[in-house]
Amino acid sequence: MAMVLNRSAEQKEIADQNKIEVKSIYFEYDGLEILQDINLTIKEGEFIVFMGPSGSGKSTLLRLLIGLSRPNKGEIFVNNQLLTDSIPDCSVVFQDYSLFPWLTAKENVILALRQKLKKSKTKKELEHLAQSYLELVQLSHAVDKYPGEMSGGMRQRAAIARALSIGSDLMFMDEPFGALDPLTRIHLQNLILQVNREQQRTIVFVTHDAEEAIFLADRIVMFTPGPPGRIAEVIDVPFPKPRNRKQLYQSLEF
Ligand code: ADP
Ligand code: MG
Repeated sequence: MAMVLNRSAEQKEIADQNKIEVKSIYFEYDGLEILQDINLTIKEGEFIVFMGPSGSGKSTLLRLLIGLSRPNKGEIFVNNQLLTDSIPDCSVVFQDYSLFPWLTAKENVILALRQKLKKSKTKKELEHLAQSYLELVQLSHAVDKYPGEMSGGMRQRAAIARALSIGSDLMFMDEPFGALDPLTRIHLQNLILQVNREQQRTIVFVTHDAEEAIFLADRIVMFTPGPPGRIAEVIDVPFPKPRNRKQLYQSLEF
């Protein structure tokens, strides 16, 4: 298996290093102010969840962090570098999967691996690696399927496998588990938590599901309903953070 995901490593170090700094960001669409004076610091290794109702500006802020759109005012630093027109080194899972429809699941992952590894691996080794990432997301039975032949949940898992294969230490995920059935969702929540804890990847994860947010997050960034885009508060998930479902339900007092 390409990744060593050791379930027993429970403790996680969050470095003191700033991974992302958002300084007084303003953003508008057609004269309508979506984000106003947003300030936020994300530390290296943190699992940050953006939570809030639909239309509150979560995806808009995420796109700004990735460098896909530019703020009207304010500055964003990634790895202490001012984000200009370039896209930072990161991997991304969007709501709409963004797989190449003319490539199979395996070919989509191989393409990402090839960009990362350049020419250091043979075709056979790349195929083997791609297969192992698709196995991680429980998609070994569908490696040769095209996106058009897969369900929404399968496409989403293929996109997650591709993002993991890129191996960047910064991951952005916009409602990545939305189309999954409950059991697969739990499997992938656990997988992504392990990736964060054991590989020290910084993850910015968008969801409107409160239970998912509490289970995953080191800190939750709440977006308010009503006027979109105001980050109302940053909630620190109480320590000890729930490590499994049982603890989560205990902390929610079910
Ligand atoms: P969320 O991800 O929280 O559901 P979004 O960031 O997608 O919210 O949207 C925030 C607000 O920006 C919404 O009010 C939406 O109508 C508006 N918006 C989003 N994308 C566009 C766009 N391309 N053009 C104009 N308005 C947009
Ligand atoms: Mg959104």
